[in-house]
Amino acid sequence: VPLPFSGKVAVVTGAAGNIGLATATRLARQGADLALLDVDAAKLEQARATLLEHEVRINIYTCDVTDSEQVRQTVETVVAELGQIDFLFNNAGYQGAFAPVQDYPEADFARVMQINVVGAFHVLRHVSTHMVARKFGRIVNTASMAGVQGPPNMAAYGASKFAIIGLTEVAAKDLAPYNIRVNAISPAFMGPGFMWDRQVELQAKAGSQYFSTNPKEVAQQMIGSIPMRRYGNINEIPGVVAFLFSDDSSYMTGVNLPISGG
Ligand code: NAD
Repeated sequence: VPLPFSGKVAVVTGAAGNIGLATATRLARQGADLALLDVDAAKLEQARATLLEHEVRINIYTCDVTDSEQVRQTVETVVAELGQIDFLFNNAGYQGAFAPVQDYPEADFARVMQINVVGAFHVLRHVSTHMVARKFGRIVNTASMAGVQGPPNMAAYGASKFAIIGLTEVAAKDLAPYNIRVNAISPAFMGPGFMWDRQVELQAKAGSQYFSTNPKEVAQQMIGSIPMRRYGNINEIPGVVAFLFSDDSSYMTGVNLPISGG
């Protein structure tokens, strides 16, 4: 029995990171060949090593999404080496600083926008050029619940993820005539691990009226704000991405699916 994604090629950006690697693993298990992109070459090599048990092609590409020309060349190389691109998980991202807007560091604001918005646009633009020519494509952009409701102390990140949801809606309209569906996912609090610890600690340090200055209490406050009363696990994301790539979502485009515990 062929696997559901046999014969498909998926590009994953931020593939060396938590969500990127978990999703790449799921796609490999469903039979997709993988082009894994990340700016961190060493982490990317480690990511590939964890995937070798799967009988799919796995190519890695060190690529900085903020550099349009590098993205263009990488996409060209992926198509030359793997033949085509069917799926894009446009997922590379950076959380930025935690500070109230009046103190928010300007250089960090620019960096967050450059990676999360301009970078995601570069990838979307160059991959969709290829998909338009083939009249087939399934794209999932990683937004965030920070792009649905602005969180305190995250001016750049919140703005960048609102932008991703907007970009998803526009791209869905522009690409619909070419049999390309474009959707977004919005994870919220994911734990345990680095991202969770970092945001708990930095929200405590930022010292706003919204969170305690004690990281342990911040963790409780965050979990208390979630109807399901727990943080999400990274492994609760890949199935949603696979659904949006599959024909089970054949009449869905331009939507943003929260993965947020309510
Ligand atoms: P992560 O830090 O583990 O992974 C992000 C990856 O992106 C890293 O491997 C990093 O090297 C890569 N990257 C950063 N800048 C890049 C660039 N310029 N070019 C190419 N690659 C680059 O974080 P994650 O949790 O896996 O995050 C993945 C996505 O999910 C991000 O867009 C993030 O904003 C979003 N997100 C995460 C959470 C969460 O709680 N973990 C919640 C909501 C949204």
